[in-house]
Amino acid sequence: MGTGQNWAGNLRYSATTVHEPREAAEVQRLVADAAAGGVGVRALGSRHSFNDIADSDGVLISTRLLAGEISCDAEADAGRAGTVAVGAGIRYGELALALQERGLAVANLASLPHISVGGAVATGTHGSGDAVGSLATAVRGIELVDGTGAVRVLRDGDADFAGAVVSLGALGIVTRVTLAVEPAFTVAQTVYEGLSWSALLADVGAITGAGYSVSVFTRWNDDGPDQVWVKRRESAPGEEADAVLAAGAVAAPEPRHPLPGISAESCTEQLGVPGPWFERLPHFRLAFTPSNGAELQSEYLIPRQHAAEAITALRALGDRIRPLLQICELRTVAADELWLSSAYQRDTLGIHFTWLQHQSEVEALLPVIEATLAPFSARPHWGKLFTQTTAAIAPLYPRHADFVALVAAYDPHGVFRNDYLRRVLL
Ligand SMILES: Cc1cc2nc3c(=O)[nH]c(=O)nc-3n(C[C@H](O)[C@H](O)[C@H](O)COP(=O)(O)OP(=O)(O)OC[C@H]3O[C@@H](n4cnc5c(N)ncnc54)[C@H](O)[C@@H]3O)c2cc1C
Repeated sequence: MGTGQNWAGNLRYSATTVHEPREAAEVQRLVADAAAGGVGVRALGSRHSFNDIADSDGVLISTRLLAGEISCDAEADAGRAGTVAVGAGIRYGELALALQERGLAVANLASLPHISVGGAVATGTHGSGDAVGSLATAVRGIELVDGTGAVRVLRDGDADFAGAVVSLGALGIVTRVTLAVEPAFTVAQTVYEGLSWSALLADVGAITGAGYSVSVFTRWNDDGPDQVWVKRRESAPGEEADAVLAAGAVAAPEPRHPLPGISAESCTEQLGVPGPWFERLPHFRLAFTPSNGAELQSEYLIPRQHAAEAITALRALGDRIRPLLQICELRTVAADELWLSSAYQRDTLGIHFTWLQHQSEVEALLPVIEATLAPFSARPHWGKLFTQTTAAIAPLYPRHADFVALVAAYDPHGVFRNDYLRRVLL
């Protein structure tokens, strides 16, 4: 079949063919054939990345049909905290429904439920929450087909595990993922407006800590951020229910979309109405196009202690950012130990940009933003637009050299290497 384009439509894959295997043995054969023929191969998830990370000059292996059976361990089977194993191609929206049926949940979700588990994990995709790790931190095991066509099974605690989870697709095609789950929980979502910059900057942590998962949306206007979305877990202790009100904001009287002027129909339920975790943690409903649909995205992740300084530095760029911007979102991610995670060993603030689809103008502005955030050691989101290359990125990742060694061991013939990896990692 033809290779087509990514979700945003800003990239036409240059690979010649997309294969859609249904089982690991087929993946093994495809990778072994590619290795024997000296042809490049990459895993393709749900195509939601904005850059060429998933592209290949050879063939793509779509994980769409690798959804597989969901299998629970004994604890999860009993509705308690445990693990479930899923095919890597399953989308979070589908996974969530299957978990909910069993009275289970994962700890966090991204802003959209449409992305595949394998693709989200491979790029360090995250939601928001001071105490919540990226989606990859739920991974307890992976099965992958390495660059020789061999199956490798890695479990949490194995020597290579922390290097192999956020892999950028460089180590192999992940066919199955084991995820930590917990009993299903309830979340209530409230959107606030009218927060001033001075109130936010006085105590960024008070706002980001106001709920289980908090997002601040801004167009960098002088009067303050546009909206604060607070997702509260009903049973979560210690959340300051009134922290955002105390900072001078007010609850929005109607449901809101993060983008000005767009109907909230596609957004998850708001107004503080409690409901299932998977219908509140993402901003967008599975049945609708997430976000705007016509957009580009970038995101930079900095240590949380620099939040106020970094926000202040970006405010000074507001007049240059705004003409290309749909919306910015500020959110937090808990530190983790996954080598290529953008939250590796640092509690993190993500500064996300939803851009208009003006790619050349956006790409001309990104170096300015990157220079502004460089003093804060900003790591780019692997799946979004950025212009940093290996020279700037490698020093941001203390285990970079170890990961490059892992790539050599898992992919000795270089079948998974693509232009993206050569540019930003190797
Ligand atoms: C509207 C929208 C909203 C978004 N919101 C968020 C958000 O809230 N938070 C956030 O952090 N990001 C967000 N993203 C970015 C998105 O989560 C990442 O780009 C993610 O990688 C997309 O997953 P995918 O399945 O589409 O992967 P793809 O884009 O298809 O692939 C991404 C990478 O993963 C690799 N890969 C995919 N599957 C496998 C596998 N089975 N084995 C090995 N490697 C694999 C590919 O080779 C490639 O390198 C958003 C993107 C869009 C379009």
